[in-house]
Amino acid sequence: MAVIECKNVVLSYENTVVARNLSFTVNEGDFLCIVGENGSGKSTLVKAILGLKSVTGGELTFGDGVTGRQIGYLPQQTTAQKDFPASVFEVVLSGCLSEKKGLFYSKDNKRTAIDNMKKLEIEPLKNRCYRELSGGQQQRVLLARALCAAKKLLLLDEPVAGLDPVVTADFYALIEKINREFGMTVVMVSHDLLYAASHASHILHMRRDGAFFATAEDYRKSDIFGTFKGGA
Ligand code: ADP
Ligand code: MG
Repeated sequence: MAVIECKNVVLSYENTVVARNLSFTVNEGDFLCIVGENGSGKSTLVKAILGLKSVTGGELTFGDGVTGRQIGYLPQQTTAQKDFPASVFEVVLSGCLSEKKGLFYSKDNKRTAIDNMKKLEIEPLKNRCYRELSGGQQQRVLLARALCAAKKLLLLDEPVAGLDPVVTADFYALIEKINREFGMTVVMVSHDLLYAASHASHILHMRRDGAFFATAEDYRKSDIFGTFKGGA
């Protein structure tokens, strides 16, 4: 069963269309990379998947039990987030917010937070202050937080923006581990077309006049990839 099914979707703000003819399917276990130039509507599509924005045409449907609450989301980073005055454990635990009953987090919530810190090898940072960490460590913490919420889908919007090449490679390796070893369905917006084409299972390339959706293998043979790669 498809996790996300998108048919001829149109996205707009007021009367301005930012993306049209969006058609693609995300199945369980897929790793979809969304690429395309700035302003092509990638983040807007992410908001539509999260249910924060409605589509103005076409159909966006979700598989059984997939709602905003089942999606772990790592937003594009802002300066405000970098200064968050909380411990690593508190930040990761806040990923369980939608499951919190009453005022306090349950033992289960805390176990989920610890498990995800172990998976991402940040448990030793548990009591450190989030804002004192390096950019790469902070991104791992936010990833662990997103994993606490991700029951069906992990959604990432340009997660490596601002990270150096070594930290970026580590982070990508982690995403692949989450996809392959933990069996999590992943949708990631990325600027890095070459990485996407060689590591994702599917590519959605967004353009003003419509989007191109294909398996990564077919995408690598496409004209659109050839043109882009040539220009890069
Ligand atoms: P991308 O993530 O691919 O860079 P966005 O989805 O952020 O693109 O933006 C797509 C287009 O929509 C851009 O032209 C942008 O200026 C416009 N846009 C984004 N957010 C808003 C908003 N809240 N109100 C009006 N226009 C917006
Ligand atoms: Mg964006």
